[in-house]
Amino acid sequence: MRIAIIGAGFSGLAAAWYFLQREHVEVTILDKRGIGGGASGIAAGLFHPYAGAHAKLNRWGKEGWEESCQLIQVAEEALGASVATRKGLLRLALTELQLSDFTLSAARYPEVQFFSEPQCQQQVPGVVAKAGIFIQTAMAVYPDRYLWGLWIACQKKGATFLQQEVKDLEELSHFDCVVLAMGSDVVQMLDLKRDPMSLVKGQLLELEWPRGLAPLPFPLSSQAYLTMSPDSKTCLVGSTFEKKFKSLEVDLEAAIQEIIPKAAAFFPPVKEMRIVKGYAGVRIASKDHLPFYKRIEANTWVLTGMGSKGLLYHALYAKQLVSSIYEEFQP
Ligand SMILES: Cc1cc2nc3c(=O)[nH]c(=O)nc-3n(C[C@H](O)[C@H](O)[C@H](O)COP(=O)(O)OP(=O)(O)OC[C@H]3O[C@@H](n4cnc5c(N)ncnc54)[C@H](O)[C@@H]3O)c2cc1C
Repeated sequence: MRIAIIGAGFSGLAAAWYFLQREHVEVTILDKRGIGGGASGIAAGLFHPYAGAHAKLNRWGKEGWEESCQLIQVAEEALGASVATRKGLLRLALTELQLSDFTLSAARYPEVQFFSEPQCQQQVPGVVAKAGIFIQTAMAVYPDRYLWGLWIACQKKGATFLQQEVKDLEELSHFDCVVLAMGSDVVQMLDLKRDPMSLVKGQLLELEWPRGLAPLPFPLSSQAYLTMSPDSKTCLVGSTFEKKFKSLEVDLEAAIQEIIPKAAAFFPPVKEMRIVKGYAGVRIASKDHLPFYKRIEANTWVLTGMGSKGLLYHALYAKQLVSSIYEEFQP
């Protein structure tokens, strides 16, 4: 079976990997911007199944977590190096509502631990005096390394990559099966009226980490989040949630205005840090905030809607998509 996958982000590379576990397949991945040229390449890399305001276990969170962990391991084996740190993540409660939600979360899930104010301050010098929850299993994934490792794993199994923009699906008519894993760009190619999707632009800032300040032992999150770069020289702080946006480009002023006050509310030293660079991407989400895959033509499927939880869901949904293609489709 000759398979074309449009998009070399988390979704497209995961789909390629699961196709490559089958026999007699030829997989070609096409991306107009290269590996990780979309939202995946600029994601902050936070990965755990307790995202969202209430810190509840996300729907399909356990299944998504397990599947993504396996794929991360595949990438690490192919790369011969680590693509993530596994040191947990601290969510600080700044409001009474967060405190009550987080307390419930800690009581409910064994891997979520309640940290008192002194515990938080002891673990993370510089943080405000607030309680929080520590998600022991959370990871900080380095998206560029992960995507590159996953691509090498796919290449070793025989996949081909073409840096090419697909403007019309007719261009791919010689393939037996086509998967659109185009992230938010899918709205430019398909009419998704039956599956209304929302697009939210997100920006991140890279800040220079002061020499005298100890690097964060693990990422912090509250109304914003902070995570260290692999060499601890900079940190990423995010993110904006821009529902109305005119441009896909970085708008540093808007990013600074939205992100810095939120991050400074739990980690004041960010106010003094030098801004190195900004990044921007677009998240696409369905109404129920779960990804979806769907057959749109006899030999064409779409996989999208990862929202802000691409790392949690990409492997699970890509694996299910490939299984369902094999169940119902004979080229
Ligand atoms: C600021 C920000 C921070 C984020 N942080 C996190 C985080 O910490 N943790 C997390 O889990 N998620 C995070 N996310 C969400 C995550 O980035 C997305 O859920 C995920 O990247 C979606 O992956 P994807 O492969 O579906 O889409 P994408 O990564 O967008 O990939 C789509 C690819 O398709 C290509 N493409 C599109 N159209 C065409 C075409 N016509 N021809 C050829 N190629 C084409 C694009 O170039 C792109 O590379 C964040 C998102 C943003 C914006």
